Amino acid sequence: MKTSARAVVIGGGIVGASVLYHLAKIGWTDALLLEKSELTSGSTWHAAGGMHTFNGEANISRLQKYTIDLYREIEALSGQSCGLHPNGGLMLAATQGELDSLRLICSRARYLGMKTKMISLEQAREYNPLIDTKHFIGALWRADGGHCDPSGTTNAYVKAARTLGASIERFTRVLSLEQRRDCSWNVVTDKGMVHAEHVVNCAGLWAREVGHMVGIELPVLAMEHHYLLTEDIPELKGRDREVVNTTDFAGEIYLRQERGGVLIGTYEPHGTVWSPVKTPDDFAMQLLPADVERLAPCFEVGFEHFPALARVGIRKAINGPFTFAPDGNPLVGPVRGVRNYWVACAVMAGFSQGGGIGLVLSRWMAENDPGQDIISMDVARFGAFATPKYTSIKVPENYSRRFQLAYPNEELSAARPVRRSPLYDKLKAAGAVMGANFGLENALWFAPAGVEPAETPTYRRSEAFPVVRAECQAVRTAVGLYETTNYGKYEVTGPGARAWLDRVFACRIPRPGRLGLAPMLNPAGRIVGDLSIACLAEDRYLIVGSGFAEEFHMRWFWAAEPPADVGVRSAASTLTGVSIAGPRARELVQRLVRVDLSASAFKLFQVTETAVGFAPAVLTRAGFTGELGYEIWTTPDYLATLYDDLWNAGGNLGLVHFGGRALSSLRLEKGYGSFNKDFRPDYTAGETGLDRFIDFSKADFTGRPAVLAERTAGPKRRFVIMEVAATDTDVTGYESIMKDGAAVGYVTSGAFGHCVGKSLAAGYVPTALARDGARFEIDILGEMRTATVRLEALHDPRGVRLRG
Ligand SMILES: Cc1cc2nc3c(=O)[nH]c(=O)nc-3n(C[C@H](O)[C@H](O)[C@H](O)COP(=O)(O)OP(=O)(O)OC[C@H]3O[C@@H](n4cnc5c(N)ncnc54)[C@H](O)[C@@H]3O)c2cc1C
Repeated sequence: MKTSARAVVIGGGIVGASVLYHLAKIGWTDALLLEKSELTSGSTWHAAGGMHTFNGEANISRLQKYTIDLYREIEALSGQSCGLHPNGGLMLAATQGELDSLRLICSRARYLGMKTKMISLEQAREYNPLIDTKHFIGALWRADGGHCDPSGTTNAYVKAARTLGASIERFTRVLSLEQRRDCSWNVVTDKGMVHAEHVVNCAGLWAREVGHMVGIELPVLAMEHHYLLTEDIPELKGRDREVVNTTDFAGEIYLRQERGGVLIGTYEPHGTVWSPVKTPDDFAMQLLPADVERLAPCFEVGFEHFPALARVGIRKAINGPFTFAPDGNPLVGPVRGVRNYWVACAVMAGFSQGGGIGLVLSRWMAENDPGQDIISMDVARFGAFATPKYTSIKVPENYSRRFQLAYPNEELSAARPVRRSPLYDKLKAAGAVMGANFGLENALWFAPAGVEPAETPTYRRSEAFPVVRAECQAVRTAVGLYETTNYGKYEVTGPGARAWLDRVFACRIPRPGRLGLAPMLNPAGRIVGDLSIACLAEDRYLIVGSGFAEEFHMRWFWAAEPPADVGVRSAASTLTGVSIAGPRARELVQRLVRVDLSASAFKLFQVTETAVGFAPAVLTRAGFTGELGYEIWTTPDYLATLYDDLWNAGGNLGLVHFGGRALSSLRLEKGYGSFNKDFRPDYTAGETGLDRFIDFSKADFTGRPAVLAERTAGPKRRFVIMEVAATDTDVTGYESIMKDGAAVGYVTSGAFGHCVGKSLAAGYVPTALARDGARFEIDILGEMRTATVRLEALHDPRGVRLRG
């Protein structure tokens, strides 16, 4: 065995094999894969091998397509067959909601370059003659995907990696990881020690244990999963093509042909967790006892929907474990605080996702950048809140919902509430309908007296629509209160703080008493943060950004190596706040503070430390609604009192609560983009328009050469707001933006603009087309709608109200 390697990949399942191949392909040929047993001996060997391109996140869909397309490449390179059956798939809808979801997939697929179409149920039967069409109302055909042979595919990766120079050691167990002073690793195995610069945890069912080796608790848990293989089905005899992979949402089952019968699997509502505390060391190519009786109700629905199945026997039942993260997406990337340790685990769809994971991880390791936005599978989307208890509740919830639709207005109920602000009970008493952001409860909208604080899951406008309209109108005409505790907050202190911030952020760092909008770029000049920096003193700064990105941003700060005279810490749990917005905001806040808030004395983006009523606070003149507004930050022990003070002072000014839904509508009317929706590492500073906050005169900041080059060449596309001629349904996100029948961009966010009376969509279009009044089309649930670019904000384009 080699005694040193640039990278050691731990685990020879489909994911480790892909990571090894991609590392070799990117030039890290000195990579070594260690597998404690035979290749595929975790969850890979007994998988059904199904592959598809659909994921709620466009970028994951794109990587899934990459994975499937890659199989021909590794077959050619290795000479090893992946056992491909690239015959596409069917998705069946039995309810209006399911049909809407299929239409949304079609709208999204155009920009992603995937071939999909809605077909009739009769056409669906040509692909799968077993369907009893009376149970369904619609079908989608997708040309991509099918199924592959798990073992052949894993071996094809490994052989291809070997061809490129990488190495593999089977039957070599990693026992522990010891970090050296230079941050490289002693990888201790049962066959001796390997010195490696980097290690990658691809240990699948044992990912948790390989996390423990470096003292981290990854939010990953295994569930049992069953599929059945039937005896031969007479109806299939003599057919010249196979029954394609068919997803039946209503039955929560999938099936496809396997030899003369079918393979049928289910994600049952009450799944069984496997090995919740420790994965046995000696588990390898084993199956778990099948519990077909427990699953009988699920399969019975399948037998009704596909009646021929009820007439044949079951040849074999497979029950095997595989792992999930709390939201079902993989955990990929570097872990903050542990240099040169990478994860690629909790991959529940290894045959659809393994290739894409290998691609982005290899770029991340070799080039310090995954090359695209992958926040939705970044390990940093989970923070301290994702404890083993949280994971043990969320993973079974995710499993049970695997084939249930995730509606855009739906909030999942398991492990709620976890993080609560001191206002939680007060807001609930005021009718708040809550969502969870990074584990923290935050108000989405407020049900007034007589309205049920609940919402029907839908792709269309819900019962919350008129309520949100009233909240928006109150903010524009009087004054509203929004809790901002769910924002990400960071404190940067020390004599070296300004110099360090200057390097990390692209903007001019504000002077004491001022706040600045602060884009943060990666070396490629793409947006990794859209934050604000308030300078409280020359050596004290309060930075505010997106709450869900706390771990992501903390990892970014950590990677930027603050020197010894700079302290950086998250204030997620130590600072709480509210935003007060609307034309009467000044009147309200002035009643509680001694400082003069008049327009000339306390201007937009000014900041001061003062008492607001009883609460010692940081007061800034800022907000996200486009109205006159203030943000007030205080510690959690004062927040409830601050809220009471504001409420007592604001009663006769028309003060209302508003929630996240209203905020989305208000910010789009003003043309503001939001991080992770509109602004992501996929987009450059010039494309987002955030380049207007960049201080190009600074000698050095991350991303400077790239943004200078873009300033010369001009951005290739532009972020725009469009008015959509929608009637009763607004965009959801990721719908393709069409021009003359071609997809030229996709929607990044949208909402109804209640105060401008228009349905709004935000997205990117090629620069040449980004003209005021330019017309596009967006397919909203099967209806093509005209979308017209509005380059000027629809609300207060001159910022008179904001600055007033
Ligand atoms: C019944 C069933 C059906 C499925 N069907 C599909 C499907 O149709 N399509 C699909 O995409 N996915 C399917 N899956 C999921 C799929 O199996 C997983 O996504 C995939 O196997 C995950 O691969 P992995 O490489 O992450 O993990 P694993 O396959 O678990 O591989 C991890 C490897 O790491 C090794 N290892 C662990 N610890 C150490 C150590 N300390 N030292 C050395 N080696 C170590 C293990 O021996 C193992 O080989 C199915 C799963 C099940 C259970």
